[in-house]
Amino acid sequence: MSAAGESLSARIAALIEAQGPISIAQYMTLALHDPQAGYYATRDPLGADFITAPEISQIFGELLGLWCVQLWHDQGKPKQCRLVELGPGRGTLMADALRAMRVAPDFKPQIVLVESSPVLRGIQQQNLPGLDIVWKSHFDQTLGDAPLFLLANEFFDALPIRQYVRTAQGWHERMVVSKAGELSFALAPGATPPALVPADRADAPEGGVYESSAAATALAQEIARIIAAQGGGALVLDYGYGEAAGFGETLQAVGANDFAEVLSQPGAHDLSAHVDFAALGEAGRRGGAAIFGPRGQGAFLSSMGLAQRAGQLAEAHPDQAAQLIASARRLIDPVQMGTLFQALAFVPPGVTPPGF
Ligand code: SAH
Repeated sequence: MSAAGESLSARIAALIEAQGPISIAQYMTLALHDPQAGYYATRDPLGADFITAPEISQIFGELLGLWCVQLWHDQGKPKQCRLVELGPGRGTLMADALRAMRVAPDFKPQIVLVESSPVLRGIQQQNLPGLDIVWKSHFDQTLGDAPLFLLANEFFDALPIRQYVRTAQGWHERMVVSKAGELSFALAPGATPPALVPADRADAPEGGVYESSAAATALAQEIARIIAAQGGGALVLDYGYGEAAGFGETLQAVGANDFAEVLSQPGAHDLSAHVDFAALGEAGRRGGAAIFGPRGQGAFLSSMGLAQRAGQLAEAHPDQAAQLIASARRLIDPVQMGTLFQALAFVPPGVTPPGF
């Protein structure tokens, strides 16, 4: 059978049989980005499988746009600069941010959307008509030569993680193996080199899991390096650990707004993990940026003026007032998205971002 005709699960099993067990990070990459069958590569999941803050309320993107404008203003309004969004989904956040940015007509950044999915790139093109936009499939070196204003909402949770499990014999990586074509988890027989597990995890209980994302920390460090050298600011919003991460595993599969098995039907479900904000912040500091947060999304959006903006919108559209207020509340409500979601900012040393 051709590679395209065979199920992704069968192709992953064949890969493992050919070269041995793969890490969870490799599995996530294949399940999310395989060109023929990867989850993001082949569909628009927003609305159908999950819903994100910019799809709930326009205020989210507007306030993030104003966050960038404020930092641009505070750094002497650089003429040449870049506005980059990582994982722009349907383009909704960027459309709302650009509308709000019209308060500063001199802010004319080059717009760059970093998007791996051809399907979502097409939808972004439709939703952001008439704009001079550069698309990239990944963040690369060419983005390092100008002040960088960067937004990332629910992007870092999709980056691949590796899992290490504490056993009586020390740490062992959890791998994906194949038995007669069935995928399952198994611990690597060899012990994990101690350097891969941070010292503050050493006291994990037996069965405790440490998750790390080299992709996330390497990217955070590079973004921080550019911001420290060129100016700008980055704002990362995601669900995850505010302070120290726990020892539970957070890798999850979600499809049709419900949980699924991580290894069943790769490509059919979204895979994501909690973002380790402490690790991202540390990577940002290594890159030379000043770090603010993580701060709960509710507190961050409230200090950015969410209630005032909701009030304005409700007054302008009295027929939709109740719905506008309810959707704005959902973003900040502690039992909904207000505390599970966190905001983390990277700025040049000496600069203070709004909202923290
Ligand atoms: N930020 C949007 C969408 C979140 S879904 C919102 O808030 O609605 C995650 C987004 O990241 C999707 O656009 C997905 O295609 C993209 N993505 C996931 N992994 C990626 C990667 N490794 N490189 C580039 N884009 C990626």
